[in-house]
Amino acid sequence: MKLEFETLSLETRHPFHIARAAAPPARQSVWVRIRDDEGNEGWGEAAPTAYYGETADTVAAALARLAEVLERAHDPFALEAIERACEHALGRNPAARAAISAALHDLVGRRLGLPVWKLWGLDPAAAPLSSFTIGIDEPEVMREKVREARDYPILKVKVGTPRDEEILALIRAEAPTAILRVDANTAWTVKEAMRKLPMLEAYEVEFLEQPLPAHDLEGLALLRRRSSIPIIADESCQVAADVPRLAGAVDGVNIKLAKCGSLREALRIIHAARAHRLQVMLGCMVESTLGIAAAVQLAPLVDYVDLDGAALLANDPFRGPGLEPDGRLRFNVEPGLGVTRA
Ligand code: MG
Repeated sequence: MKLEFETLSLETRHPFHIARAAAPPARQSVWVRIRDDEGNEGWGEAAPTAYYGETADTVAAALARLAEVLERAHDPFALEAIERACEHALGRNPAARAAISAALHDLVGRRLGLPVWKLWGLDPAAAPLSSFTIGIDEPEVMREKVREARDYPILKVKVGTPRDEEILALIRAEAPTAILRVDANTAWTVKEAMRKLPMLEAYEVEFLEQPLPAHDLEGLALLRRRSSIPIIADESCQVAADVPRLAGAVDGVNIKLAKCGSLREALRIIHAARAHRLQVMLGCMVESTLGIAAAVQLAPLVDYVDLDGAALLANDPFRGPGLEPDGRLRFNVEPGLGVTRA
């Protein structure tokens, strides 16, 4: 099979800041196309995240190596074997591998004439509503973002600044009936998080995502014992092998394809999490409809969805499944991932 890729520049409608990093002016994303020996195509997107050690350049270098792996593969239906060969060739590079995985699943779905979710026996009606994320900004800008997001029933609020309480008050005032979720992106210490619990409870926060540094599982366990608000691990949970040690320390895990490296690894995380009685959330990076489309296929299997990456963009290069302005997910009826160029 043949691999082609090109870098796309994605611009967000507003700067998107989180606790540990100011937003870059534009984000690079890589559009991956795989063509099988009969000329059928499958598409995927690699959305590199600096936190996980990737940039558009590392993705391009990784894809150049994966092109050799695919050159030797002739059967796109050999998904497990090809994904294993990609991991063996590269090690981590999760965004690059996730793009290959998505493209292969797209190709297989197109060959069979079925959406990927249907191949997996899933029911789109089982997918929960998605949240829409409000990034950290000046109060006036945040107020404007919340007004723009007024039709979304669930808002995810990025915190981890000295102004957390002010931010929550402002959002609660603008969106009195919205469900609020909070993501601190590793910003707090155990002590700080403990101090903030009553405030989060007062604002009726539905759950708290990654309050502590990724490695601080002891801290997470301590916090969880004190918290009436469920705690979801994001940065602490990258792959399925991370799940067992998180059981007891958190209430759930957040899966992202660009973090775990493939659709099949995402399925393994879901099964591992269920076996440990953990809840499952499905998230994303800032990525286009092509990347979001791959995650949408898994949404009927999870408890919480946060697939707003493409909805944050000013220049989405693709059309396909994704987030509707009322928080519902739009599924594809077209085969594979159901994505076309916009
Ligand atoms: Mg997060």
